[in-house]
This record gives sequence, structure tokens and C-alpha cells, in this order.
Amino acid sequence: AEMFGQLTSGLESAWNKLKGEETLTKENIVEPMREIRRALLEADVSLPVVRRFVQAVTDQAVGVGLIPGVKPDQQLVKIVHDELVNLMGKEVSELVFAKSGPTIILLAGLQGVGKTTVCAKLAFYLKKLDKSCMLVAGDIYRPAAIDQLSILGEQVGVPVYTAGTDVKPADIAKQGLQEAKRQNVDVVIVDTAGRLQIDKAMMDELKEVKRAINPTEVLLVVDAMTGQEAAALVTTFNLEIGITGAILTKLDGDSRGGAALSVKEVAGKPIKLVGRGERLEDLEPFYPDRMAGRILG
Ligand code: GDP
Repeated sequence: AEMFGQLTSGLESAWNKLKGEETLTKENIVEPMREIRRALLEADVSLPVVRRFVQAVTDQAVGVGLIPGVKPDQQLVKIVHDELVNLMGKEVSELVFAKSGPTIILLAGLQGVGKTTVCAKLAFYLKKLDKSCMLVAGDIYRPAAIDQLSILGEQVGVPVYTAGTDVKPADIAKQGLQEAKRQNVDVVIVDTAGRLQIDKAMMDELKEVKRAINPTEVLLVVDAMTGQEAAALVTTFNLEIGITGAILTKLDGDSRGGAALSVKEVAGKPIKLVGRGERLEDLEPFYPDRMAGRILG
């Protein structure tokens, strides 16, 4: 599925309703707005977000007056573009680096969302920014996860701190951090256990790890294919453990866009990075304006 493809064609039917019109009015905007609403709901954007979005676009469409020389359909595209950018957070939300000592990035997420892959991609990305990295294997419940992280670390060329499966994740994280300080590493990326669903044990463990290492960034990895559910997860994790942002994976397979459009507005936390494929280089900052451009085709 082409990224945002379904959403793009859904929105197209809104502009098409204005073909041949000379101006934007309360009356002729009704049908296009209905199409926009439908496209967003089909994209699995959260309902309150859809409502606010449609209201904001309607207000501007009938309130602002036409820009000379711009056709009504083009003007609506422009208004929707700007509102999409607003919705996704306007500016790029950069990763924060610690002023002194290593930057500590704690990664959380449910199983299968691409968290292990993100560890490696993030290390690869940071290396390109000339930051040295260390990965810390804090998922003690799946020995395979530790092996997978070690292999990925080798591929990227970054050290991986492991302590087997008998040490508590909070202690592993602390030891890993000590080792990173000893080696003068710039960024420590701590992987944690993913579960199939949120449960109390998972949250308690994450809280304990967070307390132990006082991370610079706590990033929740969510799967774009899960739409508004991803936004709900960001909300829950933020309320439970306090996070600084989200990483949205599998955007390459997401034709709908509901997650990308809902996370910031629903959870009040920015998407900082997106995964757009399975290769190491397929991780990049989340650019709201480029995303809006992609959505509008
Ligand atoms: P974890 O259980 O959260 O650690 O998930 P993994 O990192 O093992 O990833 C689960 C699957 O999703 C693997 O097959 C990955 O190759 C795949 N995957 C991860 N990120 C992406 C992405 O951005 N795009 C695509 N298409 N696949 C991804």
C-alpha cells in the first residue's frame, strides 16, 4: 500500500466537488467538507480530532475570502494543508540531547511494533550525526531479543551491553549506563521488554527503569498500521510513565494515516521519528509539512 494513498484519494473527492465554482460559500463548502470528514474517518483519525479539524477548515474556508487568482478548490487544498501541519505539530520535534554526560534514550513499546529494529536504526541514525552509541539489552524475557539486538549492534557497529536474563531490567540499565560513561559514549539507547498488551507488570518495570537512569528521552514506539489505537497508546503510556514523544513505525505500509494525524492532538506528545521500511537507513525525523505534502499528493 502506498503511504497515505487511501487518504490522498479520499481527500481528492473533496476538491473535485468544487471544480467549476468561482468562490467559496457556506453552501458550496458543505459537500466538500462532508468528503473531508469521511476521508479522515476512513483514515482512522480519532473522532474528536476529525471534528475539530473539520470545524477549523470550515471556519477558514468561509471566513477568509479568496486569494486573488486562486481557484476555490486550490484554496481549500491550501487551507487543509496548513491545518494538517498544525495538527501534526507544525515544527519538527527534534531529539533532545543531554547538556552533559551521555544522552539516555529509553525505548518502550508493545511486542511486534518494531522496537528492536528501532534500536538499531536509531543507533545508525545517530552515528551519521557523529554521535557514538551504545545499546542496552533490557528485554530479559525473550533471550532471542538479546541475541537479535547483539546481531543488529554488530551490523551497525555499536557496542551492545547485555547482562543475560537473570538481572532486573532497572539494574541492567544502570550497569549499561555506567559502562557507557566509562567508554565516553554520547548516546545510550535502552531497549525494554514489549508485551502483547499493556499490563501492570510492564508499566511497573518501565517506571523502575526510568527511575533508575533518569532518561533524557522516553520514546514510545508505535505501529502506524494501528491507526488511532497508536494515539491511545501514547496517551496511556504518557499518563502511566511520562514520555517525551513517539516513534511511528511501518509508515511505509500505512495507506490511511490515522496514527500520524492523531498522536499529537490526542496525546499531546509529538512524533519525533518515523520508520519507513525494514532497512537500517529507514528512520527519519517526522516533518509535519512534508507529511502534509505527501497526504495531499
Ligand atoms: P519488536 O517486537 O517491537 O522488537 O519488533 P521488531 O523490531 O522485531 O519488528 C517486527 C517486524 O516489523 C520485523 O519483521 C521488522 O522487519 C518489521 N518492521 C519494523 N519496522 C518496520 C518499518 O518501518 N517498516 C516495515 N515495513 N517493517 C518494519
